[in-house]
Amino acid sequence: MRTQVCIIGGGPSGLLLGHLLHLAGLDTLILERQSRAYVLSRIRAGVLEQGAVETLARAGAATRLEAQGFRHAGIELAAQNRSFRVDFRDLIDRDVVVYGQTEVTTDLYDARDRSGAPVLHGVEDVTLHDIDTDCPHVAFRHDGAHRSVACDWIVGADGFHGPSRQAIPRSVLRTYERIYPFGWLGVLSETPPAGPELIYANHPRGFALCSMRNEGLSRYYIQTAADEDPEAWTDEAFWDELRRRIPEPVAETMQIGPSIEKSVAPLRSFVAEPMRWGRLCLVGDAAHIVPPTGAKGLNLAVGDVHYLEEALRRAYDGDPSGVDGYSDRALARVWQATRFSWWLTMTLHRFPGASDFDQRMQEADLAYLETSRTAQRALAENYVGLPY
Ligand SMILES: Cc1cc2nc3c(=O)[nH]c(=O)nc-3n(C[C@H](O)[C@H](O)[C@H](O)COP(=O)(O)OP(=O)(O)OC[C@H]3O[C@@H](n4cnc5c(N)ncnc54)[C@H](O)[C@@H]3O)c2cc1C
Repeated sequence: MRTQVCIIGGGPSGLLLGHLLHLAGLDTLILERQSRAYVLSRIRAGVLEQGAVETLARAGAATRLEAQGFRHAGIELAAQNRSFRVDFRDLIDRDVVVYGQTEVTTDLYDARDRSGAPVLHGVEDVTLHDIDTDCPHVAFRHDGAHRSVACDWIVGADGFHGPSRQAIPRSVLRTYERIYPFGWLGVLSETPPAGPELIYANHPRGFALCSMRNEGLSRYYIQTAADEDPEAWTDEAFWDELRRRIPEPVAETMQIGPSIEKSVAPLRSFVAEPMRWGRLCLVGDAAHIVPPTGAKGLNLAVGDVHYLEEALRRAYDGDPSGVDGYSDRALARVWQATRFSWWLTMTLHRFPGASDFDQRMQEADLAYLETSRTAQRALAENYVGLPY
């Protein structure tokens, strides 16, 4: 087998890059370990930056998003039983779109289907070879048979646990990591959202977030231990704990109902450098992870795709400078989003051993944010996404 760009991973970054390259006239093959149904059932991100929406539109995969996504012009921040709004539109004249990652992935699979370009599901034992030569190849098993695909470029879009990053020699790869001592217990429920926009709450008992997917589907989170067993939480216990942590007017009026999904996500910041080695380029979670506090994971993946698609297109036009500069260009934006996600996480969560003083410092930080337009503007710029 031969293709121009072999993409390992059929999550949002692999699918989006594959489709943009296809539109640019390049041959791509996507190798995905899981079934399509499995990939489409993963409930993850829900907030899209404007740049991500524009990139999806460029791929022709934003028709449903534009019709069904919810434009949010701000967020609510809560502490000490009250909240205030950061108005993105007023501050910087931009907004974000609430549209679930499962929907984004569905739209990208539909676009890929329409193009007729291949995705192989259920591949096993993917290994990368000769990355530091001009003739790399990827070996794998599919339908019980050993196969190999020769290509010009390999793209590692295989998430945090995939094999691509590991293929970069230890002498080259540098990693930076912070593991936070807590996780988020998330519940999905078929109830109207607690408010028109996301509510991020700081509370001495721990962080809480009221989020949503659409008018009839809400996503709520509370900070718990990273190894919390979600099944140990009855719906009643979850709603009680959530309502203790958010301002009373919201807690008293919000509608609750049975959970239709419950899971715990650990929180971590992680960056791998470089994002390109030889003929291998990394995109998305394969290269970096952020805690979900700043809603940046999926958006960063789309940013990487934006840079890499342009770089590969130029490389096929005879200009290798884009690929040569890809890692530095992508990492500059990655580090900014990593800093923002880290800051918001530090400001909103209760850390083990935190004192009353620490709590007051967080509350002072939020009080300053409430009164300072300059501070709000900095938050707004980062939340809606720094320019590509
Ligand atoms: C539980 C959870 C909750 C999250 N919540 C949020 C949120 O609220 N907001 C936010 O912005 N971000 C969130 N994220 C992050 C966001 O979902 C990711 O940043 C986004 O999915 C990155 O897309 P990706 O395509 O790079 O990686 P993934 O979505 O991880 O896709 C990688 C793909 O590679 C495949 N793969 C892995 N190994 C192999 C292999 N050996 N061979 C072939 N294929 C392989 C995987 O099956 C997967 O389909 C969350 C992540 C998790 C895990």
